[in-house]
Amino acid sequence: MLQQTQVVTVLPYYERWLARFPDFASLAAAEEGEVLSVWQGLGYYSRARNLHRAARIVVEMHDGEMPRDPALIRALPGVGRYTAGAVASFAFDLPEPLVDANVARVLARLLDLRKPVDSTAGHAALWTAADSLVPKTNARIFNAALMELGALVCTPRTPRCPLCPVRAHCRALAAGTAALLPKKKPRRKTILLAEHCAWTVHRGRILLEQQHGPRWRGLWKLPLLRTPVKADPLLTLDYPFTHHRVTLAVFIKRPPARLTDSLRWHPLNKIHALPITSPHRRAIEQLIQSLTTRRAGVECR
Ligand code: SF4
Repeated sequence: MLQQTQVVTVLPYYERWLARFPDFASLAAAEEGEVLSVWQGLGYYSRARNLHRAARIVVEMHDGEMPRDPALIRALPGVGRYTAGAVASFAFDLPEPLVDANVARVLARLLDLRKPVDSTAGHAALWTAADSLVPKTNARIFNAALMELGALVCTPRTPRCPLCPVRAHCRALAAGTAALLPKKKPRRKTILLAEHCAWTVHRGRILLEQQHGPRWRGLWKLPLLRTPVKADPLLTLDYPFTHHRVTLAVFIKRPPARLTDSLRWHPLNKIHALPITSPHRRAIEQLIQSLTTRRAGVECR
């Protein structure tokens, strides 16, 4: 949940998630739609799907208990090297390394690593260093301390080197390069995209389209308009998507003569429980609010 999100933002979602899915068994038994619905607002829905699949594997293959073997942890869906190291060291105190953004910064400076930390070679150098440093005992405390060092002392812009407990070992401090590290690969150029969608509300129901692509599979969105529209949009809003910036424009459309397998009517008063992509939920809520305030009515005439 914390990937690309701050702790303070995640806490209410985390509590809601744990209240509904307190253990692997409850998560494994849930329908995917409900899992996505409880995850709603956090984005990156593949993580919710992976947690769901991982819970089912833990229940079916590991008697409902998280395996302790790092290789088995790593084999769970959505678990990469970082998550496996975090679970093995924090949950079981196993001497497994981990490298997150904070740790990468600390290690890059300790080593005076000039390679980009997000390159294959930089990545390999960081993991090799983390592996060689993690102690056989108290790996849990060591990894937590390394992360905290990055968060509180070896900070991105102005590292607090005079306070640093490992300054005697820091090659970047000695070389005067601490503020220049870590290096990263040049950012990809932002690509602008346009997405035109339909606002079709009739008899208290809204028409939504279920997604089948890998990114938003199982989620609902406003139906995509595949041909250009010669009208002013009811609403436009921007949202980011990897290195893209998407402008979503919503146009009023009359109900279609026929529905497809993916197109479904949903009662407006029940869409809060439906898994809807975050930008489209934002568009729907803004439109309902602005049309109601303007007393224009939310229905197509
Ligand atoms: S001495 Fe400075 S640059 Fe080196 S690890 Fe400590 S805080 Fe970071």
